[in-house]
Amino acid sequence: MNALPWHREALERLMGRHPRLPHAILVSGRRGIGKVAFARELARSLLCESPIDRLACGQCPSCHWFGQSNHPDYREVVPESAEEGDGEGGEADSGKEAGKKSLVIKIDQVRAIREFVSLSTHRAGHRVIVLHPAQALQPAAANALLKTLEEPPPATVIALVSDRPARLLATIRSRCESVVLRAPERESALAWLKAGGAQEPEAALALAGGAPLLAAELAQPEDREWRRRVVAELSRPDGAHVLAFAAGFDRALLERTLFVMQTWVHDLVRLKSAGEARHHVDSVAALKAKARRARLDRLLALDRELLEARRLVSHPLNARLAAEHLMMAYNRATLA
Ligand SMILES: [Zn+2]
Repeated sequence: MNALPWHREALERLMGRHPRLPHAILVSGRRGIGKVAFARELARSLLCESPIDRLACGQCPSCHWFGQSNHPDYREVVPESAEEGDGEGGEADSGKEAGKKSLVIKIDQVRAIREFVSLSTHRAGHRVIVLHPAQALQPAAANALLKTLEEPPPATVIALVSDRPARLLATIRSRCESVVLRAPERESALAWLKAGGAQEPEAALALAGGAPLLAAELAQPEDREWRRRVVAELSRPDGAHVLAFAAGFDRALLERTLFVMQTWVHDLVRLKSAGEARHHVDSVAALKAKARRARLDRLLALDRELLEARRLVSHPLNARLAAEHLMMAYNRATLA
């Protein structure tokens, strides 16, 4: 584990202010650029017992514990559903289990943090909490967190991470120092993806709109396979076969599909407005064929619906019905 190369400078700048860092930091920026990795690396550097150029050494006992997810002065707060990674298996059973897990950060989790900060630190150094995604805080949890931020405990840094900071309580935002992270240049993102062994990195990076960690996710075989499936459906000259396509949809599948549909519709809108496809650069012929019969006003309406659906996808909903509805709206927009 190391700072992502494109965020190293921002990290060094922040660590340069140590030991006068703010008590609360809000790390924001687009999805998939490495905000959580940044916050973790900040934590590791703060906890390191013999930092090199202010950053974590990777060798000391503290760095070792951190690497084992075992540091007594570090806590990470995430929704239950995110606790065991992404659940890569995709088995029907584990999918159902994941569906029952909470998608929000609850007040009990914030109370546990208040307890944690009331204890003395184990290594007589700092204590760091990383909470993500901060927009997942339930209202009661957000209010409890606000109390902690209003009476900052000594030697404690709380880093909130969010790609939708506007959804946080204004009072929480105002208690945090804002660190806005950016996506890297294309060349450096591609180099990083290639070093990580990503398949078809150019296509994945275009699809991800330049966000490298999102691109790495999209370059996974399972994701590439699903994108091909959705793109094939969206490309049908006679329109998507709505019922057959949406059968068996669950929330995870809907979320992935929404992303493909949204980027696809953005490309159609661009083509209709005399621009060029930016995301699905390997399907330009199919996009152009669809764009010919599509209506711009309906595409824009569909885009708003997709945005709304992505907001709702973290709530319980009938994934099959939502997929059917959106696919029908897509057909209406592209078979005009
Ligand atoms: Zn160290």
